[in-house]
Amino acid sequence: MHPPSIDRLARAHAGSGLPHPTLVGLARRVVAEVPADQVEGVLDSAVAKRVALEAREVINGTGVLLHTNLGRSPVSASGNDRYTNLEFSLADGGRGPRAAAVTDLATMLTGAEAALVVNNCAAAVMLALATLANERGVIVSRGELVEIGGGFRVPDVLAQSGATLVEVGTTNRTNVGDLVTALEPNGGAADPPVAMVLKVHQSNYRIIGFTESVSVAQAREAAPDEVVVMADLGSGLLDARCQWLAGGPPSWLGDEPGVAQVLADGADLVAVSGDKLMGGPQAGLLVGRADLVDRCARHPLMRAVRCGGGTLRMLERTLTAYANRDLDGLPFWSLATTTCDALRQRGASILTQLPNDRSVEMIDTVATTGGGTLPGADIASVGLALPGDRVAALRASEPPVIARAAEGTTVIDLRTVFSDQDAPVTAALTRLLDRTRA
Ligand SMILES: *Cc1c(COP(=O)(O)O)cnc(C)c1O
Repeated sequence: MHPPSIDRLARAHAGSGLPHPTLVGLARRVVAEVPADQVEGVLDSAVAKRVALEAREVINGTGVLLHTNLGRSPVSASGNDRYTNLEFSLADGGRGPRAAAVTDLATMLTGAEAALVVNNCAAAVMLALATLANERGVIVSRGELVEIGGGFRVPDVLAQSGATLVEVGTTNRTNVGDLVTALEPNGGAADPPVAMVLKVHQSNYRIIGFTESVSVAQAREAAPDEVVVMADLGSGLLDARCQWLAGGPPSWLGDEPGVAQVLADGADLVAVSGDKLMGGPQAGLLVGRADLVDRCARHPLMRAVRCGGGTLRMLERTLTAYANRDLDGLPFWSLATTTCDALRQRGASILTQLPNDRSVEMIDTVATTGGGTLPGADIASVGLALPGDRVAALRASEPPVIARAAEGTTVIDLRTVFSDQDAPVTAALTRLLDRTRA
């Protein structure tokens, strides 16, 4: 058998929509790796796998609002390919400050003196530690030496930033006395002197039972002025009063701290994620005292961790929606606070459009915020359930419907499905039922 023509193989898959050079690369690799009689089959599946990697819209039927694998919070990309005034002042024609509109909104919404935007919360923490605590001590409670996920472990981040970890307290209990003892040598013979007390929010876990911890207010009171009190809040709830929700804070938020409240309690700096409870694009915000934010902004790492113009624009839109209390501009909050009655109505409407088939039924479900936020917070929700594990078949729909299966039942949770996605969900279910009956 002749070795197949690479070009002919690539052209045969032109319908996949992949660029020709990508197809040529795949064909070359497959021809080099498998016997000639298997080339076509192996190439078919290699092309399908590569197509599946392309970024596109999926329908989130998992009931996990901030789904780490589905891009965490839903935000619309700007889709504008024109030049922008990213660093240009339209007022005087000179060089303008980057991100000024975003930082202006962030300070207004949180009451902070100043704000800084970087790529993610991990970068915000790293930048603050490297700027303010390099070759200095940083006090952290043993109950907060956590791993947030994706390799972000507080002790490792500290070491990487050049700071020395000063552990205080125990896993379940840390009190003000522990803090005071660790701070005592400051100004004395401490080596290295303590530069910061870092409080890490228990974003993705809880310690319950016989526990005690030091609040931001207590830490600020115990620490001398020259020691910075920083809160790594992660979750990114902007304000615990949730003024952007007509009904105020939902009960499932529990006592989740807001950035505004943590600053008011005395934190000098707060680091938060843009795409957790803030519901914006992947970004990190560092807010707090102007002198500290300014030092961080001038650190050489800043250039490496600043985010791009597209992100800044998405963040500007998100924060503007908060300022305008415009729930439509905050998809995460709008999905999270849709009433179960509204979900039930949508579910009923989908059911009436399905072929006359009783196998799909509406059930009560429990949705979660996810994304390493609010562990244990249950959000009442509504889903469509069908017998068997149909997760793979739904995922193969266009657009893909990502459902969850448990105990022999597949559930599409409507909490995370946008209402304009009800039609494609209906279409996907219809196709599935038709195929099952055929
Ligand atoms: C999520 C989280 C981070 C990391 O945030 P990213 O924006 O994902 O980098 C850091 N600290 C805490 C406490 C978090 O919850």
